[in-house]
Amino acid sequence: MLALHTGGTISMSQNTAGEVSLNKSNPLLDDNYDQLFDHQINLTSEEIFNLPSPHMSMQRMLQLHDRILQAEAAGIDGVVVTHGTDTLEETAYFLDLTLPDTIPVVVTGAMRSSNEIGSDGLYNFMSAVWTAASPQSRGKGVLVVMNDEVHTARYVTKTHTTNVSTFRTPTFGPIGLVAQHKVQFFQELITQENVALDHVVDRVYLVKAYAGMDAQLLEAIANPNTNGLVLEALGAGNMPPQTLPALRQILDLGIPVVLVSRCFNGVAQAVYEYEGGGVQLEKMGIIYCRGLNGPKARIKLLVGLSAGKSPAEIRHYLSDAVS
Ligand code: ASP
Repeated sequence: MLALHTGGTISMSQNTAGEVSLNKSNPLLDDNYDQLFDHQINLTSEEIFNLPSPHMSMQRMLQLHDRILQAEAAGIDGVVVTHGTDTLEETAYFLDLTLPDTIPVVVTGAMRSSNEIGSDGLYNFMSAVWTAASPQSRGKGVLVVMNDEVHTARYVTKTHTTNVSTFRTPTFGPIGLVAQHKVQFFQELITQENVALDHVVDRVYLVKAYAGMDAQLLEAIANPNTNGLVLEALGAGNMPPQTLPALRQILDLGIPVVLVSRCFNGVAQAVYEYEGGGVQLEKMGIIYCRGLNGPKARIKLLVGLSAGKSPAEIRHYLSDAVS
């Protein structure tokens, strides 16, 4: 098994003033930790990055993806990725969409740094390793293990700024639990297409709607350099009417516009027939994406565009979270 460390709070320490920062060397690279697995698991650890996760980029996600593919080709039977929690869900979903799903890949992190009382890092790391080692974890896509729960990369999200139970799957719930070094699964996802990538495009934007929103921000996006746009729309999937002219400009430029809801729970649907309502937005050509949150829909759009999908293929790929 291979552990790939990328940084984040799990690898950080707190100073006497309570400030948390990166260590020169990741404490999880300590050789003694291998003994936690009673020699039942042959664990190799590698530090691919040592970054806070707000420094994660699409290029770095691609580098991580390439390293995992290389490990699979070399016969590694499971991979654990440690990551900062702020953008963990985006990296996990990027890997989920782009890896062939032949070996378990489990992503984990921590809310408390390595020397804090009640630090959850080592425990989460252990749980992730036990999960990646379980034959039951195969073929379930990329998994996120935190605080004794197993979530899918597709739907998990960070819901709390500091609490150790921050990772949740709104609407659908976790798919498994970890206890006493064992993982038990209770649900399974509908399988999805895996997309092979060798590069990633940029300028795919995410904009959240709000009451009284005007067109200014969207007008700045309405230019030929933009590759794609995801809207976190209101409620079931509606936009303030003042935004419509700029949205039309963006669509006229042939830029795909994908819509999800800014609501924490539920699925966006074209329900309302009024100015800016979902029925009108869908007729304009906006793509309704089912079940994903804004950051995940942005990753999916970016992956589809990077793979060179045609506009019709992008519509099909994005219009259903499981296609
Ligand atoms: N800011 C940190 C990061 O994402 C948070 C964490 O790791 O929990 O790197």
